Amino acid sequence: MEGIIYDIKRFALHDGPGIRTTVFLKGCPLACWWCHNPESQLPAPEPSAVVTILDEASHERRHTLGYHTTTGAVMEVIDKEAVFYDESGGGVTFSGGEPLMQPEFLKQLLQSCKDHGYHTAVDTSGHAPWQRLEEVLPFTDLFLYDLKHHDDELHQKYTGGSLRLILDNLSRLAQKHTNIVIRIPVVPGINDSAADKEAFAKIITGLGSIRQVHLLPFHNMAQHKYKRWGMENKLTNLNNLNKNDLLPAADFFAAKGFEVTIGG
Ligand code: SF4
Repeated sequence: MEGIIYDIKRFALHDGPGIRTTVFLKGCPLACWWCHNPESQLPAPEPSAVVTILDEASHERRHTLGYHTTTGAVMEVIDKEAVFYDESGGGVTFSGGEPLMQPEFLKQLLQSCKDHGYHTAVDTSGHAPWQRLEEVLPFTDLFLYDLKHHDDELHQKYTGGSLRLILDNLSRLAQKHTNIVIRIPVVPGINDSAADKEAFAKIITGLGSIRQVHLLPFHNMAQHKYKRWGMENKLTNLNNLNKNDLLPAADFFAAKGFEVTIGG
């Protein structure tokens, strides 16, 4: 079966346990202001050009962001790293963009991974029809589930999508799946106040079964991508956060009984 991806990262260490291969599917229904992979948002491959100045001459290199591929071709890449999954307790993570934007392609990849005995993770914004999550449930060992804001209006403003759908899906998922990690991208001035932390904790606690929280510090390393591809970057003036900046937040969530990781 065919699908569209924009990258495959080998030896990934922050997308689930152990050493992993992360497959980035193209297309996302959201447009978060802090998105590190803005090239992932459009669902189709996009022509692009990178201009460099060398010896006072301008050089343009044309290429395409994203490409059509098949489940077989992706599995070939995944299979090459199998020894590392075994040795490290790792596996394969499907990320994006939003992987649930290509539900059949994702499902077939997950099924193939399970047929090969690989641990599987889906890294999702949760912004998708429930049926798509339900269909990949049997083949997914771990969900890395983003929670970007706790307020529907602000969620809409900063991501372009409704929080309600995400929370409805999360609530249903928590009743059917025991291995869900909540990932909060912590963005200064947007979702990092004391009141924000209380509100996030209230949501997660209300779900009952979820025990793990990952705090992802904001960084602006994608600035060059916005510039290169002529996309608007709405967060140009924010400073990067580092691990120490998030220690108080980590302590806060730990005191609420969660296992907390900074950085995923
Ligand atoms: S959900 Fe992820 S990929 Fe989509 S816009 Fe937000 S940060 Fe980018």
